[in-house]
Amino acid sequence: MQTVGRFAPSPSGRMHLGNVLCALLAWLSARHQNGAFLLRIEDLDAMRCPRSYADLIMDDLQWLGLDWDGAPVYQSARHPLYEDALRTLQRLTIDDSGAVTADATGNATPLIYPCFCSRADIRAASAPQEGDRFMIYPGTCRRLAETNPDEVRARLAQGRRHSLRIAMPASNSTIAFEDRVFGHQEFNVTREIGDSVVRRADGLFSYQLVVVVDDLAMGVDDIVRGRDLLRSNTLQIWIRQALTGSTDYSYAHLPLIDNASGQRLAKREKSLDMGILRKHGATPERVIGYCAWLLGLQGDPHSTHPQPMSAQEALTEFSWAKVRTDTADRSLDPQAFNTYFGL
Ligand code: GLU
Repeated sequence: MQTVGRFAPSPSGRMHLGNVLCALLAWLSARHQNGAFLLRIEDLDAMRCPRSYADLIMDDLQWLGLDWDGAPVYQSARHPLYEDALRTLQRLTIDDSGAVTADATGNATPLIYPCFCSRADIRAASAPQEGDRFMIYPGTCRRLAETNPDEVRARLAQGRRHSLRIAMPASNSTIAFEDRVFGHQEFNVTREIGDSVVRRADGLFSYQLVVVVDDLAMGVDDIVRGRDLLRSNTLQIWIRQALTGSTDYSYAHLPLIDNASGQRLAKREKSLDMGILRKHGATPERVIGYCAWLLGLQGDPHSTHPQPMSAQEALTEFSWAKVRTDTADRSLDPQAFNTYFGL
């Protein structure tokens, strides 16, 4: 079976160097196995994702020499697919042991249940959570669905505003996977993920659901992206298991890029923005060379100076064995960066 990789940018801005780093590694991973490489524009939240940014991302990828197969997939055009997947999940139940089945006998909990809580309710009832955009849901409406389904039906009949959540196993349950950069990963999905929104109260499907549906529909099995999605990966495995029972993917999550003072670079940190780099005369080889150097693909692992190289040259150099697996976020020295790019 041919490997299928993908790059799935959210077009809420121009690409910056961190996005290019992920795109390059995803492309290298797929292409060095003669695999397909697909492009998915994650523009589900159309208000935040004007078409012009998607066009700029594609222009930058072409300019860099990172080609993809077939037409780009736009999430904004795929609502019926997400509706179907949601309906499939809505036919399932989860029992006390965390087993997900299609037969609704006994008093199993629906796998997907309506949640009437506001963010403020959830915040008030939860212990504070650090990082990764996770706020562990305390289970209020899950208990309601289990103990008082009539009340749930009544609220729905009244048209009460609600999101939809997917239930996680209620007793401490872990999901593990091997990551090519971060190694063995294991998360307690009960405590570290919790029941998660799959459709927001405003009707928008959640990233966590659609990414699974799209990767399945597109035949993707090679996932390379930023480490901010490392923990989310277990939620995505959980959703995929519920939809298909299959989990057989390869994963690599990449450390993020920091500036020298250790602050995570925001998406539009000026000097790392592709628009700025190109305007100042950066060549594709300079950008790819810098990213290949960050990844550890440039010969001498102790070399302190990136060398320009094309995407094709990086492909010749590429092997997973060379890719740096230190998991600290990459700290860039702004002065060396500016000198290299002539800024
Ligand atoms: N669209 C997400 C982002 O730009 C990445 C999604 C993914 O690779 O799964 O952060």
